[in-house]
Amino acid sequence: MDLLMIVNKENRLSKKFVPIDLVEIKTIIPGSVEVDRKIYLNKIVADKWLELKKYVEKLGYKIDISSGYRSYEYQEKLFNKFISKKGLEQTLKIAALPGASEHQTGLCFDYEKVYIEDDKIKSSLNELDIEYKIVKDVAYKYGFIIRYPKNKEEITGYKFEPWHLRYVGYEVAKNIYENDITLEEYKSKILIK
Ligand SMILES: [Zn+2]
Repeated sequence: MDLLMIVNKENRLSKKFVPIDLVEIKTIIPGSVEVDRKIYLNKIVADKWLELKKYVEKLGYKIDISSGYRSYEYQEKLFNKFISKKGLEQTLKIAALPGASEHQTGLCFDYEKVYIEDDKIKSSLNELDIEYKIVKDVAYKYGFIIRYPKNKEEITGYKFEPWHLRYVGYEVAKNIYENDITLEEYKSKILIK
């Protein structure tokens, strides 16, 4: 599997693409979009996530995954649901086309901080959260990058998403983190070399 694959509007995956080595992973975040919520990730990604999570927990903070692998069919359903609610034009702005979501690779996920409010488990994440500040600076040690960073919208085609982590492996993640670049920039640099 190509750990550095880019999936977006221009580079869509086919309906047949299902990642290898998917494993189920537990989360305590209650489902918001799926009814039968099961989270799947590529095995290596799942292992590294658990290490990162453990590190953050040791510091006294709780984080968990709110979304992992999403199948083509799932994205298709989600997309159609958006269309019926908001119309095509609006949907194209906020939801990925089927095959255009990186979540179909099994190499990425969304995480959030977890807290209890009114006896209920709640979750959210924004750039001011300490959980984000911690993760942002240690993620590369576990092979992760903030895939859609701030002020890089024109390169990634996506708005800043502090919660979306993508696995690329330690060496690449370190390079991307230290040079403050995106996966797109990293790949184009390699091509130029
Ligand atoms: Zn995401």
